[in-house]
Amino acid sequence: MPLRDLIGNERVERALTRAAGRDRLPHALLFAGPEGVGKRTFALELAKAVTCHEPVDGDACGCCESCTRAAAGEHPDIRVFVPEGTLHKIAAMRDLAREAQFRPFDNRRRVIVVDDAHKMRDEAANAILKTLEEPPPTTLIVLVTDQPYSLLGTIRSRCQTLRFAPAEPEAIEAYLADRFRRPADETRLLARIASGRIGRALSTDLSVYREQRKEMLGLIELVMTGGDRLRLMKAAQFLADTGKKDKSELEARLNVLVDLCRDIYGLTLDGPAEGVANSDIVPRLTTLASSTTAERIARLIDAVERLRDRLRQNANRQIALEAMLLGFGA
Ligand SMILES: [Zn+2]
Repeated sequence: MPLRDLIGNERVERALTRAAGRDRLPHALLFAGPEGVGKRTFALELAKAVTCHEPVDGDACGCCESCTRAAAGEHPDIRVFVPEGTLHKIAAMRDLAREAQFRPFDNRRRVIVVDDAHKMRDEAANAILKTLEEPPPTTLIVLVTDQPYSLLGTIRSRCQTLRFAPAEPEAIEAYLADRFRRPADETRLLARIASGRIGRALSTDLSVYREQRKEMLGLIELVMTGGDRLRLMKAAQFLADTGKKDKSELEARLNVLVDLCRDIYGLTLDGPAEGVANSDIVPRLTTLASSTTAERIARLIDAVERLRDRLRQNANRQIALEAMLLGFGA
């Protein structure tokens, strides 16, 4: 899939293909933007474009031998570094520095992509500083991150940063409708709950989503009716256990919770039901909206956002969840 077929971030795409077409790409790029908006895919497609044997206006042709190998992840001049465990190891970054000096096997370019580039301690980052500053003219390095400010300033300043943004839900809906056979209401739901992140739209399993949504709707009802303490504590325990097993499972539920609250918030303001992401359950959301106020639901959204911050700072899950739910129920 060449760059021209990706969705969203059209300006970034044009800037990249224009520069690639004129052979004016900077030697080090930093792709920054929220998780799931396609940064890594853009990096891999850019790698394909600059190694392609028959590029079309700076973009990959998609069918030459080089493009075929790149698409299969077997191109000798395209190297992707992902963190081993939670970090990029120092040894791996030293490999990067060495490999950056290799001449391209295919006589065009070598492209090195570093995914989750912020997952680097200072020593690993220092191992690639010199390489970022002066790679050979045939090497292109692309760092990908959703936390650009966690990178060392010395790394950031050696790269040209390109910012990626979430896509419009309509663009995601059109993209999904074009590629997958699915009932229209499911495509619509996926596009809406993706919050502009194509990665999320592609990776969401709707049956899992609906199950999580059922749980979170129950929780909202419990909280909004000033639910009894025991049930709120049980809910906190359940969520804490979920997070203990798998952090991302808890995050997914909190995302669902916030999305539902945003929908209910819109409905309390008499917003049109068309703006609702969970468009397949509008009647239930409308009932919830009529039993609460915009102010109260906004407070719940704030409380969940604060909870997420605390969890990111490694607060004790159970205590943080109980504090949020009981504090709100009170
Ligand atoms: Zn090609």
